[in-house]
Amino acid sequence: MDCIFCKIINGEVRSNIVYEDDYVVAFNDLNPMAPTHILIVPKKHIATILDISDADADIIGKINLAAKKIAEKFKFEDFRLVANCGKDAGQSVFHIHYHFLAGRRFAWPPG
Ligand code: 5GP
Ligand code: ZN
Repeated sequence: MDCIFCKIINGEVRSNIVYEDDYVVAFNDLNPMAPTHILIVPKKHIATILDISDADADIIGKINLAAKKIAEKFKFEDFRLVANCGKDAGQSVFHIHYHFLAGRRFAWPPG
């Protein structure tokens, strides 16, 4: 399958991995939108949030726990966790991922 995140997960494409466990990998975004911009990606290929099944509940929980561990590791108490679903919401890589953004103030509502 031609998926850039699967290639990062299996080591075919290099990335700066900042956290890894049995379920997820987290690495720096190539085009950062904040001083810290990390992508938290499940090792299982799931195209979009609409493709998540009940059996994936553990994986989705592990993503939130990974965000907590990354926040602790880099000593952030304020951060944003964002997942885009579908092209019009800004999804460009169709392997689910959660953007961990920190190091500046963020507007609400988002643009
Ligand atoms: P999306 O637009 O799908 O929500 O987010 C995809 C993110 O993946 C973008 O922020 C983009 O910069 C990042 N990205 C795309 N290709 C690569 C890559 O090869 N390596 C890394 N580290 N990030 C990538
Ligand atoms: Zn993939």
